[in-house]
Amino acid sequence: MSETYVTQPSLPPLDEFVTSLEQIWSSKQLTNNGPFHQEFETALAEYLGVPYISLFCNGMTALQVGLQALKISGEVITSPYTFPATTHAIYWNHCTPVFCDIDQDTCNIDPEKIESLITPKTTCIIPVHVYGMPCSIDKIQRIADNYGLKVIYDAAHAFGAKLNGASLCSFGDLSMVSFHATKVFNTIEGGALVTHDEKLKKRVDYLKNFGFADENTIVAPGSNGKMNEVQAALGLLQLKYVDEAIEKRVRLAQIYKEQLTDIPGIRILDAIDGSTPNGAYCPIFVQELAYGKSRDQLYEILKEESIHGRRYFYPLISQLAYYRGLPSSSPDRLPHAVAAADQVICLPLYASLDPEMVERIANIVRNAAASG
Ligand SMILES: *Cc1c(COP(=O)(O)O)cnc(C)c1O
Repeated sequence: MSETYVTQPSLPPLDEFVTSLEQIWSSKQLTNNGPFHQEFETALAEYLGVPYISLFCNGMTALQVGLQALKISGEVITSPYTFPATTHAIYWNHCTPVFCDIDQDTCNIDPEKIESLITPKTTCIIPVHVYGMPCSIDKIQRIADNYGLKVIYDAAHAFGAKLNGASLCSFGDLSMVSFHATKVFNTIEGGALVTHDEKLKKRVDYLKNFGFADENTIVAPGSNGKMNEVQAALGLLQLKYVDEAIEKRVRLAQIYKEQLTDIPGIRILDAIDGSTPNGAYCPIFVQELAYGKSRDQLYEILKEESIHGRRYFYPLISQLAYYRGLPSSSPDRLPHAVAAADQVICLPLYASLDPEMVERIANIVRNAAASG
């Protein structure tokens, strides 16, 4: 039997990409803000409905540069229920992550618990739109405004998702998007920062190119986060097909929802009011007592059937050896994050997944509950 993994990248027709590659080969411009980069940046800003966007080689570098661009220092309040990149970017900027618990209904940072974590050293909040579900944007912004904090969204999961019609990548002082192969929209590796004013975009663009403002002027100690022409050319093609891919994902997620909805001990997340989903992930939460099996038992049962779910996000980032000693990492301060990390499995979900496979996977989850 063939293996089914948690995701599979969408790719455009190969002949279209070959045509783009031929253009790159003849122009000999491989990187450094070439024609494909410029065209992709413009097309992407238009697609997302955002004023400015800067392309990057990957999402983590974008986040690191975003923290530099806003001169973030001291303490940064963030969620432990995320991919390591969120916290590592804080660490690489010599800031201290301060972990805030999540809301169990959304798996996003709990806005009611942010204020009690603010100290005189706090400069920034980095919430994550986990699974492409919107954070409490208004509440978070109100807190940030009251205390003079910056907000940088980790919108790595959020491409194509919307809140009240606006792209989920358009909020905060900055939003970071990832175009990694495992994401809804990919350029193999890639990412972007969304900004809202020209001055900040300019600063971001200097910082992702060693600080070069022009040939002889290096205005800041920048990094190298540039997206190359091959990535940008692929991105331009991907953009033509992404709506169709998202539509398919959302339809499959709906089938999962219908099939999994009444299994005792299996919790699925409800959509948030006003949100348009992007079908990025299908997380289920296994409540062992009611389900009769543990999350890890179900994970292994699926694996025996050649279904490879992923425990996104486990382990909890606050439990990693180098973050565990922080006062905010104490598990009793993070009960909902601990529970989610212990219960979650993301089931396979991608545009080319067969709807019958979705039903088969849901049946395995259902039958595993009943079997002894
Ligand atoms: C994928 C991901 C990142 C990192 O993005 P890369 O493009 O792989 O560097 C950051 N945060 C979250 C939540 C992610 O899922």
